[in-house]
Amino acid sequence: MPEGDTIHAAARRVGDALVGKPILSIETPHPRHAMDRWPERLAGRSVRAVDAQGKHLLVRFEGDLTLHSHLRMTGWWGVYPHGRRWGRSPRRAWLVIRTDEHEVVQFDGPVLELVTDSRTRFDRRLAMLGPDVIADDFDERRFLARLREDDQSRGIGDALLDQRNLAGIGNVWKSEGCFRAGLDPWRRLDAVSDEEALAVVREVRPLMRASAERGGHPRGIQVYDRAGRPCPRCSTTIRARGQGDDNRTTYWCPACQA
Ligand SMILES: [Zn+2]
Repeated sequence: MPEGDTIHAAARRVGDALVGKPILSIETPHPRHAMDRWPERLAGRSVRAVDAQGKHLLVRFEGDLTLHSHLRMTGWWGVYPHGRRWGRSPRRAWLVIRTDEHEVVQFDGPVLELVTDSRTRFDRRLAMLGPDVIADDFDERRFLARLREDDQSRGIGDALLDQRNLAGIGNVWKSEGCFRAGLDPWRRLDAVSDEEALAVVREVRPLMRASAERGGHPRGIQVYDRAGRPCPRCSTTIRARGQGDDNRTTYWCPACQA
């Protein structure tokens, strides 16, 4: 699943291609949107901003209309100069926005909707989001407040994936953050101090921000997807096991994350 660094990078690419540029055409090839009349509703409007909130991407048009997308496991935003072959089949395109120079394509949905700005402000999925781990003004106190409102019997690794506590973090960075902070991802929240929880976020924030700058390419991965291999810190075998209600795989070193 794309994590916040990938979505922030996509927002930059899409924004660079669309903001302030004349929009030549908007098409909605996917049958689900055949009756939505987006090309007519968006005709003549320019894009004033593209931003990411956690794993949500928002394309804001002039005149109070916003395209809201969430990529879940499968979706993707592609930005291509005219004539460049798309990264996925045109049959998988849900939305195509053309400018003089670029084709901006949203592939494979699954969440794509056109709403008013005021509706995005009251959208439950956006309103419930915790502080965005990548944001310049990340609010540590708000993160801790959300974490302490959560069920304190949850493991920290599971709680970090909950977008109500922290927006943008996913399975890769959850495992990496706990490893770098030397924290057992299975430890219950009521046994994790505020400083320990903050240490995880302080470890992953610069890594995720640097990855977003590079276009959403994580570097320096140490435990994620490395089950059975030696821990880079202590050489103990890295373990993997499903965690939480969604059974997302957690990777950790049982020796130095005690
Ligand atoms: Zn270790």
